[in-house]
Amino acid sequence: MHQLTLAEIARGLADKSFSSEELTGALLARIKSLDPQLNSFISITEAQALEQARAADARRAAGESGVLLGAPIAHKDLFCTRGIRTSCGSRMLDNFAAPYDATVVARLADAGMVTLGKTNMDEFAMGSANESSHYGAVKNPWNLEHVPGGSSGGSAAAVAARLVPVSTGSDTGGSIRQPAALTNLTGLKPTYGRVSRWGMIAYASSLDQGGPMARTAQDCALLLQGMAGFDANDSTSIDEPVPDYSATLNAPLQGLRIGLPKEYFGAGLDPRIADLVQASVRELEGLGAVIREISLPSTQQAIPAYYVIAPAEASSNLSRFDGVRFGHRCEAPKDLTDLYKRSRGEGFGAEVQRRIMVGTYALSAGYYDAYYLKAQKVRRLIKNDFMNAFAEVDLILGPTTPNPAWKLGAKASDPVAAYLEDVYTITANLAGLPGLSMPAGFVDGLPVGVQLLAPYFQEGRLLNVAHRYQQVTDWHTRAPTGF
Ligand code: GLN
Repeated sequence: MHQLTLAEIARGLADKSFSSEELTGALLARIKSLDPQLNSFISITEAQALEQARAADARRAAGESGVLLGAPIAHKDLFCTRGIRTSCGSRMLDNFAAPYDATVVARLADAGMVTLGKTNMDEFAMGSANESSHYGAVKNPWNLEHVPGGSSGGSAAAVAARLVPVSTGSDTGGSIRQPAALTNLTGLKPTYGRVSRWGMIAYASSLDQGGPMARTAQDCALLLQGMAGFDANDSTSIDEPVPDYSATLNAPLQGLRIGLPKEYFGAGLDPRIADLVQASVRELEGLGAVIREISLPSTQQAIPAYYVIAPAEASSNLSRFDGVRFGHRCEAPKDLTDLYKRSRGEGFGAEVQRRIMVGTYALSAGYYDAYYLKAQKVRRLIKNDFMNAFAEVDLILGPTTPNPAWKLGAKASDPVAAYLEDVYTITANLAGLPGLSMPAGFVDGLPVGVQLLAPYFQEGRLLNVAHRYQQVTDWHTRAPTGF
């Protein structure tokens, strides 16, 4: 049963091949026996899951239908879940049980989804390897000595290892697409404002966006359908109708103009990944797409701009975790300053402290214009690059990451080396555009992803192209040995 996709589960539940309770029980048993190798879950919510599964079965017996009714999911541990620990991968929130459900969690639960647990992640979503979690590193099911990517590394490893069919992730600079690429999944970062951020613990508010992680584009379409839509509780949520993503999955690609940015194929890209990307291009040409070379000249400036803006926003967002209003409080403080210092010093790990310091510095009087304002100007140039490109092409294609998954610990002492892995993903966040990563082959037994970027609100187009590609390729069907 664990090999079934979300779409297949929906059919199995509808034709009564199995019940949600049976499926939930089987997956919980699998998590208990296999997850100790991976560490992809921070919390397993067994009792609640079985209760939700029985409730879903009862709703179905009463005549209700719905593709998500009774289907299992796991949520990244930055989505608030009422009464259940929501740690954000941090000691700071180790004993925080959220008083309410995030909009995404509530919508999926209302649709009848069953939450199996909360997945491991880089602390406060800062990272590309899932090694900065207070709960320990996550292992890549394709090779247990390698990282699964981050920050949604737990959500990725759990789905790749068939512990759960789908999961939620969040993407501030690539945290859905990059771990999806490194574990052979399909992951979608929607347009900024498409999915509500209410109840999703903030890292960098102008960049953060929640989205689906699954094995297939079809499953991403089903899950996004349940997640997307206007939410009055999120002031950045956009009141745009949500199209039927499943209805357009099979649309023809004849004449679709796909742009390959020349800046995405230069130095730094593993040539074996470049070859796999070119092979995916040929598949899409075979389906009728027309390929053009394009230029995104500001790509070079994206990493420095992102690593000013994201820490600046993080330093502000994380100021609430002070041991008074929110978060871990130190024992026996001498005075108020001691309380702040020790609570934050004990609660936050090294990478989070580094980002808070960088961000506070960039926002301080005297440096604001030189760093933060400059970075915002670069951000506009990056957006303009995309607008110019989308005047000529319908979609942009390139590698998701410059390298396959690296060994655990290999970049842990060199933060900048890890930041450089974000080169192809962070531009979509800076511009607010939707992006998708899909499986495109293997290098040394490790998965490789191809990224597609589209104009605002064209998630349907991304899912359509990935789905058609997945009908003529079988990379996405491969499972890691032992899982
Ligand atoms: N790797 C990037 C960072 O560390 C992106 C993380 C994310 O998307 N949450 O900021």
